[in-house]
Amino acid sequence: MPSISIKGRMLAYLLLIVLLSQVSTLITNVSPVAEDSLDLNFDIKHAFLTTPIDSNLSLTTLINNPDYLTVAPPEAIPWRFEPQIYWLRFTLKNNTDEERTLHATFNNLMLDDLHVLQVENSEVINSIELGWDNRNLTPIQRSTPSFRFNIKAQNTTQLFARISTDGITKTNINFLEGHQFIQHVKNTHLIYGVLVGIMVMIALYNLILFFVIHDKLYLIYIGYILSILMMSGVVIGFGHYIWSEAIMAVFRRNIVSLNFSATIFSLLFAIFFLKYHLDNDKYYKVGILYTAIMILGSVVSLFLPEHISAPLFFTLMIGLYVLCIILITRKAIADFYWTKFYIISWLPLLIGAAIQPLELVGTIPSTFHSHYAFSFGVVFEITLMAMALAERMRAQKELALYNATHNLNSNLPNQNLLSTRLQDQIRHRQDGYLCLLKIVKYQTLSAYISSEESHRITKYIQQKSSQKLATASEFITIEKRKSKSIKIAQLTEDTFAIISNSTLKNDRLKAYIEELMDSIYETLNVSGFSVNLASQCGITRFTKQDQQAEAIIKRAYQAIEQSQRSGKVIQFYRERDSINQSQKLSLASDLQSAIRNGELELYHQPQIDLSTREVIGSEVLVRWRHRTHGMILPEEFIPIAEDMGIINELTQWVLKTACQQLRDLANQGITHHRISVNISGKDISSPQFLSDVSNLLAQTKTPPQRLTFELTESVMVDSFQDVNNTMKTLSNLGIHFSIDDYGTGYSSLSYISQMAFTALKIDKSFIQDMDNDAKNFTIVKTTLDMAQALNLKVVAEGIECPRIEQLLIDCGCGIGQGFFYSPPLAFGEYGQWLREYQSHQRHLNITAI
Ligand code: C2E
Ligand code: MG
Ligand code: MG
Repeated sequence: MPSISIKGRMLAYLLLIVLLSQVSTLITNVSPVAEDSLDLNFDIKHAFLTTPIDSNLSLTTLINNPDYLTVAPPEAIPWRFEPQIYWLRFTLKNNTDEERTLHATFNNLMLDDLHVLQVENSEVINSIELGWDNRNLTPIQRSTPSFRFNIKAQNTTQLFARISTDGITKTNINFLEGHQFIQHVKNTHLIYGVLVGIMVMIALYNLILFFVIHDKLYLIYIGYILSILMMSGVVIGFGHYIWSEAIMAVFRRNIVSLNFSATIFSLLFAIFFLKYHLDNDKYYKVGILYTAIMILGSVVSLFLPEHISAPLFFTLMIGLYVLCIILITRKAIADFYWTKFYIISWLPLLIGAAIQPLELVGTIPSTFHSHYAFSFGVVFEITLMAMALAERMRAQKELALYNATHNLNSNLPNQNLLSTRLQDQIRHRQDGYLCLLKIVKYQTLSAYISSEESHRITKYIQQKSSQKLATASEFITIEKRKSKSIKIAQLTEDTFAIISNSTLKNDRLKAYIEELMDSIYETLNVSGFSVNLASQCGITRFTKQDQQAEAIIKRAYQAIEQSQRSGKVIQFYRERDSINQSQKLSLASDLQSAIRNGELELYHQPQIDLSTREVIGSEVLVRWRHRTHGMILPEEFIPIAEDMGIINELTQWVLKTACQQLRDLANQGITHHRISVNISGKDISSPQFLSDVSNLLAQTKTPPQRLTFELTESVMVDSFQDVNNTMKTLSNLGIHFSIDDYGTGYSSLSYISQMAFTALKIDKSFIQDMDNDAKNFTIVKTTLDMAQALNLKVVAEGIECPRIEQLLIDCGCGIGQGFFYSPPLAFGEYGQWLREYQSHQRHLNITAI
């Protein structure tokens, strides 16, 4: 993955944190004034009593027996998770000279039963039922439960609160004066607005992200936000303004299950955000197992009373915290990019979620901050996480773009990026050259080596060419990565591209490319093979007249094709030589009619036994004289026949004609003549080939021993096993097999000797200058030695002079072929040549005697 600069994003995070802190400070600053700040004109005394849930202690008994209650500060009340009844008594004295109105506020919105009574002179003068069980309360009474009462000047009054609930009983009670109470309600509503607004907005935002990139992580996150929304709607109270009381009652009853569902979603989120599903290791499995346990806990909680299900939830939460810490730590140690986003986002929530139970059990004092710590945590977390998720989407898009524009094995720019760069050049009216560098016979090689080794070769080429191009300002940067300029693209496994600007003239560019090729040319040892990384190069010029980058690339590919035909290592694109697709099609159709109308001809080139000088046979080479284009070379039309699917028909024609000509020769008294036929890879791997050849042999009554099939190494690339089987069957019939153009591919001799080959033909490129080139001489010599050891006959093709012939005889080569004896000849001429050669030989023999 590309490295993403995170400085800017971290700064944005910091800004957001500061912003959110400002919002929370703003809310805190206008928070209701706590009891201590109630002005000193009031004295308050606290007392409490806890009784079993089934006790029927009445208020009258408590009024008559004030000592039943323990006088103690509010912190001393032993709040528990057990179902019990709490009686609280507040004795308030108004020290002022005027009657005052106070509001007792209760911060626990989930009490089933909250009965508040004002008692003066042993009589209840005012009361209210604020618990859930009272169905007649307004949303304000439910979301900010309070009791409004008056105290006369210099008078004392008593408040009794009877609290009981199945859930958490702990309730903080504050006394506020009228204006403070109004502020308290306003602040509470402000918090509601911030919370609901942010949650809904972010849920919608994530829904959009989900529709854009279809990643289920965003749905998990929405599930999490919705669970938190429902849960805090009940606990914090804004739900009374959003849902009907019937829905609120269902949520209230199943509040523990809602807590569970929020944690389930958050655990799933952690697993998928930290990409544990891709690791699919034991941590992932434990994560999923724990999710299942939490789901079970959630379902069970639906049927359990809250005082049992709530402790179950908190217990399971401990495990969840431990698990999350392990999951996060592992990814942090592995330096997983997304971990820091996760930690930054979840830290505020984790702190908030930890403060809340501590406040509940009284470990930390209940203040406005601690009471809303979880809510603030949620706001921080979902906002920060929304940013992280947006960042994730951006990174995913960036990765997708990277993947679409790069070769993923080499990380080099691919054809798409090359096209973009070329298009830029055209747009800016800058001329230049596109050079495609193709590794010769790489396809044959890649069939024998592992993908790691082929990556090693690519890496090697990349390194060498990058070194060479780094300082050459004439070559254009295709991609800028950090401070590195990448000037080479990889189009296919064996084809690389570079762009030069127009300051380089043809000759200089050619010289440069030659140097580049030399720097790449290296004998690498791959899987025991000695591999020569020879390359060829197709170059095309582009100018502002060019419209499409694709057309330029196509021209460069055609230049490579032209280089294959011309035999030149570096080839500038030549318009007149290019065969486009439609020309190819028309040539293919012409070729097909030529086969059917008998317009092709078979030429014969003799093969000579170098020790006896006798002709042992000939290689047949097809010739096509096109009605309008004239003579077309086989090297030009054979690849077209292969590409267009007519090679099998062509080969059948060649084979049939060769068999007929063999019979004609026999009729002329030339009985021991053999014929070698070139067989394409597409022929031998065709399932019909075997039966076609057998039928032909039967029809023409040709002795199979007279035939040799010449195959190049490339036939072994595809479906090696099938080819090997076909060869075995044909060889059992008596047909010989010879490996053609040996030395230009990558096959090893030991490999060949395991197949049905009985001979090999050393490629003419090694033979032709073996007298001047020591390297070629050594190749020929060692091939001959090894072939002899492996019991393979050797044919040397391309003998053009007596010097080479003598060298080959000295090296122990058995058979020779080449212009020195004869060029390929039309069948009639060949018969003539044979007779002349034989009489000449006889003459030589007689003179020798
Ligand atoms: P090849 O099978 O390696 O054939 C040998 C080529 O070398 C022939 O070229 C031949 O004319 C040429 N050659 C022979 N002796 C000399 C020499 O002393 N010096 C030089 N410079 N060249 C020499 P040709 O006929 O143009 O054929 C080229 C290639 O086309 C053949 O290479 C073979 O791969 C393919 N081909 C030719 N005929 C057929 C055919 O009937 N079927 C198939 N599938 N391929 C064919
Ligand atoms: Mg051949
Ligand atoms: Mg050959």
